[in-house]
Amino acid sequence: MNPELRELYGEILLDHGRKPRNHRAQPCPPACMVEGDNPLCGDRVRFFITIDNGSIADASFEGSGCAISIASASLATVAVRGLPVEDALARVHGFVHAMTSPDSPELPEDLAALSGVRGFPMRVKCATLAWHAMREAVESSRTHQESAR
Ligand code: ZN
Repeated sequence: MNPELRELYGEILLDHGRKPRNHRAQPCPPACMVEGDNPLCGDRVRFFITIDNGSIADASFEGSGCAISIASASLATVAVRGLPVEDALARVHGFVHAMTSPDSPELPEDLAALSGVRGFPMRVKCATLAWHAMREAVESSRTHQESAR
């Protein structure tokens, strides 16, 4: 990675770590909340998802932990807002795969700031924590809506 790119990615992570987007609770229901933690680092996250008409109407989180975990949760909320449920789940799958697989595909541009974390297995857990919680919240919200119909 060239130095300019590494610097840019560092700035994006710092910005999301210091001023996380959508860092707030939502009332449940209608939102569905899933908690996750990463005891290795002490990261904790509560992820909130509201589905409306088959799409992610709102995504938000509360959390505490290292800058990587907060920045990644913040990026996660932005990455799925407004997407149809299936597309949101595909984004989670693609992100986790890119972060954890040895033949790592490139991260999409809006998440590329996290690519520097990939060589560090401990930090990968920090970065994927919110995404696992988000996937569970999406799936559980969808199941709840289907059973309420
Ligand atoms: Zn962490």
